[in-house]
Amino acid sequence: MNLILFGPPGVGKGTQAEHLRDNYALHHISTGDILRAAVKAGTPLGTEAKRYMDSGALVPDEVIIGLVEEVLEKDKQENKGFLLDGFPRTEEQAKALDNIFHKLQIADVIIISLDAPEEELVERLIKRGQESGRSDDTEETIRRRLVVYHDQTSPVLGYYKKGRKVKEINGLGKVEEITDRIKNAVGS
Ligand code: AMP
Repeated sequence: MNLILFGPPGVGKGTQAEHLRDNYALHHISTGDILRAAVKAGTPLGTEAKRYMDSGALVPDEVIIGLVEEVLEKDKQENKGFLLDGFPRTEEQAKALDNIFHKLQIADVIIISLDAPEEELVERLIKRGQESGRSDDTEETIRRRLVVYHDQTSPVLGYYKKGRKVKEINGLGKVEEITDRIKNAVGS
């Protein structure tokens, strides 16, 4: 099984991804985590990505697409199912991902769209910023990331809805309740 976890910042993709990874033995691929690791390690990718991330903008498509392709190719070779978290975030990325799926002959992908009201997202992200110290979880950057989400990322959902079934999940409630909703949707 392969999953794409889609949704705005703060909706709980990372938290749900950890549960789903354990439950279905999937390789959790978080592009945000990959980029943060690169920033921490001070690699050329990290240096380039940091300025975008700190301002709440998206890292350029050509940077992120190649990176995801490499990981998916390796998973395919090792016969591992994947769980994509935070990718695709633009229509360009979604189209590139379709090409990668075609090339690697991956057909069984379930798209899960998590959603919650905007004020709830802002509240959660501010709280996360206070707890984790993530440098892009300041109120100003949070608002900008939500604008970027509406402008550049939410059209991806429209793209997917044209040709595929999208499982829409309410992201409000207890973590376990949301995990159960996703498991029910995936199992059906
Ligand atoms: P996340 O942890 O998924 O919230 O990602 C944190 C930041 O990493 C985002 O605000 C972007 O700057 C960058 N990022 C993560 N995934 C992507 C992606 N698929 N495309 C472009 N930028 C990304």
